Amino acid sequence: MNDYVVIGGGVIGLLLARELAAAGATVTILEQGQCCREASWAGGGIVSPLYPWRYSLPVSALAFQAQQSYPQLVTALRDETGIDPEFEQTGLLMLDADDEHQALDWAAETGRNVQKVLSGFINLHEPGLSKRFDRGLWMPEIANIRNPRLGQALISSLQNNPRVRILERTKVVSLVTHDGSVAHAEILREGQRDNISAGNFVVTAGAWSGGLLSDLGIHLPIIPVKGQMLLFRPDRKLTSSILLTAGRYLIPRRDNHLLVGSTLEHTDFDKSTTEEGLSSLYQSAIGLLPELAEFPVIQQWAGLRPGAPQGIPYIGRVGRWKNLYINAGHYRNGLVLAPASTRLLADLLLKRKPEIDPSPYDPYIPH
Ligand SMILES: Cc1cc2nc3c(=O)[nH]c(=O)nc-3n(C[C@H](O)[C@H](O)[C@H](O)COP(=O)(O)OP(=O)(O)OC[C@H]3O[C@@H](n4cnc5c(N)ncnc54)[C@H](O)[C@@H]3O)c2cc1C
Repeated sequence: MNDYVVIGGGVIGLLLARELAAAGATVTILEQGQCCREASWAGGGIVSPLYPWRYSLPVSALAFQAQQSYPQLVTALRDETGIDPEFEQTGLLMLDADDEHQALDWAAETGRNVQKVLSGFINLHEPGLSKRFDRGLWMPEIANIRNPRLGQALISSLQNNPRVRILERTKVVSLVTHDGSVAHAEILREGQRDNISAGNFVVTAGAWSGGLLSDLGIHLPIIPVKGQMLLFRPDRKLTSSILLTAGRYLIPRRDNHLLVGSTLEHTDFDKSTTEEGLSSLYQSAIGLLPELAEFPVIQQWAGLRPGAPQGIPYIGRVGRWKNLYINAGHYRNGLVLAPASTRLLADLLLKRKPEIDPSPYDPYIPH
């Protein structure tokens, strides 16, 4: 019997498995589809909350720790697997933020590098940007990560780890309890039902986490929030930094691919893309970088963010069951928060002293 069953093979489940296995535990990951093909694939990969000063302390605490640990994580994964997740410190230029003062106060309090910039800097740094922007905030330390490659690197690393077993196309249909504990997970795999036992069960099922737990009478408000994205492939670098205005952003990848994000839609578990999403994102993109109009959109997709109140994830033990835990509800920030969020839960599971106070993420305490 494994020490842990991790339910959901997104970036949260995979990084948690990596943490637990590194401490000597055995882990089985159960993934209903393919690992890292849901929100963790669909996301943009900005390694920062979009307007970080607007977030609460619990989100910032995880973000700060995760931002520090990303370079080391990426190097380790690249060395282990030969897959480069392309962590690029491109910086982020925010245009027309209407709460500039709060941003600068937050930067002074937290020691973050946020600079107020005017048209001289903007024109020099981003000559292709629409001339309608003449002021902004520059955060030179913000990075982006090519999240599908992060997923591939994590999968490859875990596949070579003798303590980890990944079962894809394996859906957990229910958690069966007995005598105050989860006794086993009932799974559906290749049309067959089966049971899997473990010492502990961890729900890392992203937007689907609430549904899995509600069968046990645990009602955590984790809801799917659809986000659509577009992809361009210009033949040259049109921007060297992440550009952000009015909640819409452009992310440059190393090979000139440019991602445009994202919509926020409450459409339950519907992941379809729409003409409206395409047109609205396209207008935002061209409004930032007029030259993009020379190039076609090469891909449009959507993913489901695991929305939780204030974007604060649930991390800890759930319900009255002794061996049932959760790490879900990272909303718009799961990629940035993942290394710190999974470290925190691993600390709790392994009885290590956590570096971050776990109480704000406790599923028992209303967020
Ligand atoms: C358009 C968009 C843009 C984003 N941009 C960013 C960004 O720039 N920066 C950032 O930090 N974050 C971003 N995010 C958010 C980020 O992608 C998510 O917060 C994060 O990926 C959540 O990871 P997860 O592992 O919890 O969920 P997921 O990646 O969704 O993984 C959950 C997994 O659980 C599996 N699962 C569900 N139910 C079951 C079951 N019953 N049995 C077995 N498996 C199950 C699913 O198949 C899935 O693979 C973005 C998201 C979207 C959609």
